Amino acid sequence: MAQTTELVKVVVVGGSFAGVAVIQTLLSSIKSGHKNIQIILIEKRDARHHPIGAFRALVDAEYAKRVWIPYTNLFPKDSHHKIIQDTVTQVYHDHVVLASGQSVPFNYIALCTGSSNPAPAKFTADSSKESIAITDKAREDLKKAKSAVVVGGGACGVELAGEIKSAFPDKKVTLIHSSQTLVDYPGYSPVLKSGALTHLRDLGVDVVLGFRAEIEGLTFQNSIQSAPRTIVTPSGTTIESDIQFLSVGISVDTSYISTLKPATNPTFDSSTLIHADNHQIKVQKTLQVIGFDNIFAAGDCADYSKVPTAAASGVIAPTIAKNIIALVEAKKKNKTAKLSNPGWYPSVMLLATGPETGVIAMPLIGTRFSNSISKALKSKDLMVGMTNASMNWK
Ligand SMILES: Cc1cc2nc3c(=O)[nH]c(=O)nc-3n(C[C@H](O)[C@H](O)[C@H](O)COP(=O)(O)OP(=O)(O)OC[C@H]3O[C@@H](n4cnc5c(N)ncnc54)[C@H](O)[C@@H]3O)c2cc1C
Repeated sequence: MAQTTELVKVVVVGGSFAGVAVIQTLLSSIKSGHKNIQIILIEKRDARHHPIGAFRALVDAEYAKRVWIPYTNLFPKDSHHKIIQDTVTQVYHDHVVLASGQSVPFNYIALCTGSSNPAPAKFTADSSKESIAITDKAREDLKKAKSAVVVGGGACGVELAGEIKSAFPDKKVTLIHSSQTLVDYPGYSPVLKSGALTHLRDLGVDVVLGFRAEIEGLTFQNSIQSAPRTIVTPSGTTIESDIQFLSVGISVDTSYISTLKPATNPTFDSSTLIHADNHQIKVQKTLQVIGFDNIFAAGDCADYSKVPTAAASGVIAPTIAKNIIALVEAKKKNKTAKLSNPGWYPSVMLLATGPETGVIAMPLIGTRFSNSISKALKSKDLMVGMTNASMNWK
């Protein structure tokens, strides 16, 4: 008589860099056994957005067609895996509740809900059509503008200013940053930070440092404004612009975790699971949420990496899949699972400032301002080909 094996349901919330890395690793294990695992991706959007290409999409309508990728081919045809397009609003120890009211049970779950940045980097709308319309409108406004201001000199602000200047060399582009140092993240070399400044100035971007520009109405939610503006710096310099972009801030929404309690402890305080300042979920080295064996988190929503990046997610998130497989196997054999940690991952920083130019900092080769290396590794297509490939989409 054929042996019946219990179905193991693995829910993945969020189908971007971290979630897709978990899914791809699980799919490889399922191919070589583990046919009883069913993956259920819950993703609020109707297509996957590739944020790394967002600023190229702003300046190049042809390229923009590649940054929204359908989920159609993510799972093999006729497999029992599922995609549910909905928002997870509550997580419990063995099921999630969606915005539609549906409840989805799981044995294991990977929370990969990422982060938000002001448009046109990322979007609050769940519909790709609405998000594409925001980029299209900004592109048309940008084409008409003689001058543009970008507020915020983190990686996004540097790339946005660079992309605009590269696409429209005749426009005046000003990057305004509140501190004296661009891309001032922990763990990256000062040479990268000063190099980014020199690089942008060489491209012809005006960089104003040490000035916190407050532009009325320009907010995280309303981050692109097309209106003639004059900004006056404390030293009395005037900066004219026809379009302004806010490129400051990253926000993480993990409010769904406020319902999570261990089955045996109804008085558990779930606020201890997230950092009060940045709302990232606290995870152990195994990527298990503190106190929960079957609940994992990775990517921008988890507190694992100092600087969360897609590159880090790609290296770290597969450990969730490996640990879930280890737990499934151990349970079958009635043994204790040997779980692994992601281990070392590189602090890579590639700042693309147009299809031909960029600044990169990588372990082994160090910080380089070589446009040819930047072009080969990122600037040319901003890794959209890799993301399309991970979704089995051509
Ligand atoms: C302009 C820009 C350029 C960048 N360039 C680089 C780069 O060159 N290299 C690099 O390594 N990193 C880069 N990054 C950072 C990188 O994009 C992020 O680190 C990466 O997107 C994080 O991936 P993630 O899977 O954790 O989350 P996200 O990409 O933020 O995706 C989260 C997913 O979860 C879904 N979701 C969220 N909440 C819910 C919910 N409650 N229910 C259901 N679904 C939900 C979202 O719709 C989304 O699809 C860049 C970021 C930006 C904005």
